[in-house]
Amino acid sequence: MIQVNVKCPYCKESLMDNEHMIDGKPSIKVSIQSGKKLGDLYLSSLYGSYEIISEIDFTEGEIYIFSCPHCNSVLTSKNLCEKCNAPIVAFEFIGGSRILICSRRGCKKHSIEFEDLEKEISAFYNVYSLFFAPTLGKKEKKNE
Ligand SMILES: [Zn+2]
Ligand SMILES: [Zn+2]
Repeated sequence: MIQVNVKCPYCKESLMDNEHMIDGKPSIKVSIQSGKKLGDLYLSSLYGSYEIISEIDFTEGEIYIFSCPHCNSVLTSKNLCEKCNAPIVAFEFIGGSRILICSRRGCKKHSIEFEDLEKEISAFYNVYSLFFAPTLGKKEKKNE
C-alpha cells in the first residue's frame, strides 16, 4: 500500500495530522457534517485502507459533507460516484492530480485522477517507484 500526502485544493494547506496516527502513519484530517452532526474525521493515509477515527457516529449509507479544517472550503467536487451517485470528495495530491473518495459512508469507491497523465505518472513513479507498476496507463486503481 502507498501512503499519500494530501493538501486542501483551495488553501493548499496540508491535511496530514501527526497527532492521530492510523495504520502507523499520519492521518488525513477533515471536518465532516451531516445534518446537525459535525465533527472531525481522520482517514488513513494508506491508499486502500478504510481505517478511520471519527468524532461522530456514522450512519451507514448516509452522505457526508467533507470540508477543509483550515479554510472550511467544501471539498466535494462536481463529480458523482459511479457506483452510488453520491458527490465525490477531492483531495489534492502530487502536482495537479487528485485523490477522489465517495462521500457516502460504506461506499468503497475511490481513485486517483491524473490531469496530465504522462507527466504525473512519471512524477508518481519517482515517488512510489515500487508501486502500481502493473497498472501503468490505467486511470484508476481499485482496492476492494
Ligand atoms: Zn483549505
Ligand atoms: Zn459511492
